[in-house]
Amino acid sequence: MLIHTDPTPPVVYDATGLQYQTEKQLGRGGFAICWQAQQTDGDRTPSKTVALKIVRSKMEHTKLAKKFVTELQIHSKLHHPHIVEFLRAFAFESSTYVVLEICPNESLAHCLKKRSYLSMPEIRRYIIQICGAVKYLHMHNIVHRDLKTGNLFLDQEMNVKVGDFGLAAVLVGPDDAAMRRTTMCGTPNYIAPEVLEKSDKGHNEKVDIWAIGIIAYTLAVGKAPFHASKPSEVLVKVAKGEYTWPDLGRHENDIPDDLRNLVSQILVDENSRPGLDTIVSYDFFKMGYIPETLSSNATSCRPKWT
Ligand code: ADP
Repeated sequence: MLIHTDPTPPVVYDATGLQYQTEKQLGRGGFAICWQAQQTDGDRTPSKTVALKIVRSKMEHTKLAKKFVTELQIHSKLHHPHIVEFLRAFAFESSTYVVLEICPNESLAHCLKKRSYLSMPEIRRYIIQICGAVKYLHMHNIVHRDLKTGNLFLDQEMNVKVGDFGLAAVLVGPDDAAMRRTTMCGTPNYIAPEVLEKSDKGHNEKVDIWAIGIIAYTLAVGKAPFHASKPSEVLVKVAKGEYTWPDLGRHENDIPDDLRNLVSQILVDENSRPGLDTIVSYDFFKMGYIPETLSSNATSCRPKWT
């Protein structure tokens, strides 16, 4: 893994003259550090809060550098209410900077760390939003390939924004097996079984559908369905499709049959997996409350529904 060690300058400029003042560190990933920054254009317009992702320009590792270019090429073309908006990228001194829409409420992974598990109304809201973003990606022949709670960011209004397109890929045609990507990638808990098979067929956009099933389970239970202490053991369970619903013994958050049904319809062989429109038509979304708004307090406390 490449560790970013360069000190971040307090102020950086892009080629258009926009200025970015770094404020606080939002997080760090495999090859980038992300800062909250104020974007200003002198005194012409009020400043705007953005996320500034700083990536070392001189990446030693060509594979990582390639990944970053793919990420920029794919992400910069996407515009959807549930996808982190890519604003621009520029070089300054020895680093590359990516300006992104800021998601001040962190990610669903952060939220789970504080809350352990979420309520059914929240899960309905988030899964519908994720399905909307993924439908947009698939319509544009883009497979995200790394959908997980840590890549699902939350904006000021607690809307999900899909981010981190570092493993995304473009499929030339959705049914074109020859063009299916064959790289083994993703996080062990979220990897679809067909990715493990390493067959010549490769894998397609159905890996994102699988990940949605994993996310739905994880938000409800607090742990991924396929988990073990060693990544290799996780992969054995994924290959066998071996998962159970624990008896959580919680009164307020018993997992309803319609959520169990949704997950069990998704975590199946790729040819039997439902499409995104089918997923959002399941009873889970028809029978229960879906909050239109959500307070930022929901990142750390269970919301009270009136
Ligand atoms: P990498 O591509 O290196 O894995 P990430 O895109 O995951 O980097 O970003 C690293 C961290 O920065 C994330 O875990 C998150 O905490 C934070 N982050 C990334 N993008 C945003 C954003 N748009 N708004 C707020 N925080 C962000």
